[in-house]
Amino acid sequence: MTNVLVTGGAGYIGSHACKSLKQAGYVPVTYDNLVTGWQDAVRFGPFERGDLLDRDCLDAVFQQYQPVAVMHFAALSQVGEAVTQPGRYWRNNVLGSLNLIEAAAEAGCLNFVFSSTCATYGDQDNVVLDESSAQNPLNAYGSSKRAVENILTDFEAAFGMRHVIFRYFNVAGADPDGEVGEFHQPETHLIPLMLDAIDGKRDALTIYGTDYETPDGTCIRDYVHVCDLVDAHVLGLTWLRDGKGSRVFNLGTGRGFSVREVVAASRDVTNRPVPMQEGARRAGDCTKLVSGSTRAERELGWRPQRSTLKQMIGDAWRWHQNGHYDK
Ligand code: UDP
Repeated sequence: MTNVLVTGGAGYIGSHACKSLKQAGYVPVTYDNLVTGWQDAVRFGPFERGDLLDRDCLDAVFQQYQPVAVMHFAALSQVGEAVTQPGRYWRNNVLGSLNLIEAAAEAGCLNFVFSSTCATYGDQDNVVLDESSAQNPLNAYGSSKRAVENILTDFEAAFGMRHVIFRYFNVAGADPDGEVGEFHQPETHLIPLMLDAIDGKRDALTIYGTDYETPDGTCIRDYVHVCDLVDAHVLGLTWLRDGKGSRVFNLGTGRGFSVREVVAASRDVTNRPVPMQEGARRAGDCTKLVSGSTRAERELGWRPQRSTLKQMIGDAWRWHQNGHYDK
């Protein structure tokens, strides 16, 4: 049995990663405190309930499962909340990650895959965002992720712990088999909120800002299908297990869509009107985040299969209509 410790395996991206790891022949061991995750989403391997701030619990799990690698998804990830509650973000995302990284190093588990974010780049007008772009995060979510990237660099120097860092752009969609999907409470992300508005679960989608310097005034993001994203993680794991060096990869498609374009695509996919209203900008939002890198394709052999807006919204819509978790 080749175990991989998956922190946040009960969450949106982590649960899809567990499915992908299982399909690749690994045993994904979920470590999750269930604050934002769902036990129902743990379907592909063992579950250990624990907090990243609980070092004893982490040590016991490393001892019990002897994982060959860590995939670290567990984190708070809402931009709005990060602006108003920075302490929570630094404590959970940075102190929690430091505990985990230290526990892994002491257990001799020296392969580490980390989910970072394009929010570490911040707003950069007319700059192509590749892995060597400057990092100027606009909020505590981005800053906390950048801090963990730095910790990993130091742990490599000290202990030879190699890492693959993935800087995600906007993750969307759901498992096409409907086994797992996106289910946040409260929900803050554009596509699930819009699907809620479309089927009457909430009144209307609010567009956060229509006066950005973009062609239609709304923010532009690069959306990537969650299944494509987690496939890259399995490739990243192979990269580390093949003995290759630490590397950072952007995970985006290189195509940007405005909020209004996503609304229009959702109308087309669901064949229903999107109730919406225009609102003020949301603090902490960047104008445009689009990946300008093909490094993951070139070096990892990553080939996104499902990352068209139509496919992402279609898969999310099917999950939205049929899937949910209970605490
Ligand atoms: N957005 C919006 N209304 C919402 C939620 C999001 O207009 O109710 C916009 C948000 O300002 C951003 C984009 O949709 O430009 C994607 O936001 P999301 O929260 O999904 O992801 P983020 O880019 O913050 O990681």
